[in-house]
Amino acid sequence: MAMTGATAVPGRHPGADRGGPVDLAGARILVVRADNIGDVVTTTPALRALRAAAPGARIELLASPAGAAVVPMIPELDGVLVASPSWQQLPGAACGDAAGERELVERMAAGSYDVLLVLTSFSQSPWPVAHLGMLAGIGTRVVHSREFGGAVATHWVTPPPDTTHQVDRALHLLAAIGVPGRGHETALRVPAGAAIAAAELAPDGAFAVLAPGASCASRRYPAELFGAVAARIAQAGMPVRVAGSAAEDELVARVVTTAEHPAVTAVPPVALPVFTALLARASVAITNNSGGMHLADAVRTPVAVAFAGTERTGDLQPRSTRATLLGRPVRCSPCRQLQCPYNHECLDVPPGGLAAAALALAVPGTPLTAKEDRWTPFAPSTP
Ligand code: SF4
Repeated sequence: MAMTGATAVPGRHPGADRGGPVDLAGARILVVRADNIGDVVTTTPALRALRAAAPGARIELLASPAGAAVVPMIPELDGVLVASPSWQQLPGAACGDAAGERELVERMAAGSYDVLLVLTSFSQSPWPVAHLGMLAGIGTRVVHSREFGGAVATHWVTPPPDTTHQVDRALHLLAAIGVPGRGHETALRVPAGAAIAAAELAPDGAFAVLAPGASCASRRYPAELFGAVAARIAQAGMPVRVAGSAAEDELVARVVTTAEHPAVTAVPPVALPVFTALLARASVAITNNSGGMHLADAVRTPVAVAFAGTERTGDLQPRSTRATLLGRPVRCSPCRQLQCPYNHECLDVPPGGLAAAALALAVPGTPLTAKEDRWTPFAPSTP
């Protein structure tokens, strides 16, 4: 590990950065990323690097039920440990399931893992899961943190700046234990059965996929405005398939109803690999800052994004495909709110602007303008 010893690094705890390269040959490795679909997609460059460095290792992912749906599309993984751990839940009635957490320790112990790699965003603490790993008997525990965690981790690495892209943050942790990167592009492999199922849902010729869902209300562009976006794209001659999970059925229906155009139709809820395969066939995707955005990026479908100010664009923006992120700069960003306490000014993006951005991505050469546009494109994102 490239340890910095006593060098004074701003924000670095003096006890951090001790350890060294980890021998991963033949190891049983548990990688932790127990949040949402998009977060799992952003781990794919790290998993690629890990597999290349340790071809004979067994690599498993500790994922949430939502994130686990991505696993069948990640060929580097040998298995998944599905859990809804306390450190990923919001405080509330279900908070603090001690029995569930004890059971998780037992499941981790039963996996006989040698190495625990804790991947986090800049705002997440690695210490709760690292502690469970210690209780489960995992000998090598690798984390990023600026906060003191005692002897809980064997490899306590000072993280890069908080503004670092999530992909690069994960690769930084691996580099610290001697694993070189293998590119920054996210990637998924769509199973053949999913591709066949998606072909039956797609129209002939060019089409757009609009995914109006997101994990929280603060990241969702209004359904009625998404309907107007879909209508404009359809009027330009491109059919639009509106898609979401089973829980987003009503939202999808509202978008289709508002669009009032025969070429705007709903896709029935399908498994995540089928949805991803549909994205892969599309000429362009229109999404929020959500899992749909990351999935489109990973299958190289250009994506127009209504990007709420809940997060910084630089941490998460698509970099593997052409993308246009639209939003309004606001002083309250990044807020990380689940519900906007104001009037969602950051998503004050006219539908004409979002539709024009989508068409420009779908048909390269189309000027990225629309008469009534008042939207603000963030810095363009090109692979
Ligand atoms: S307007 Fe501000 S507080 Fe509301 S979601 Fe956007 S960034 Fe967050």
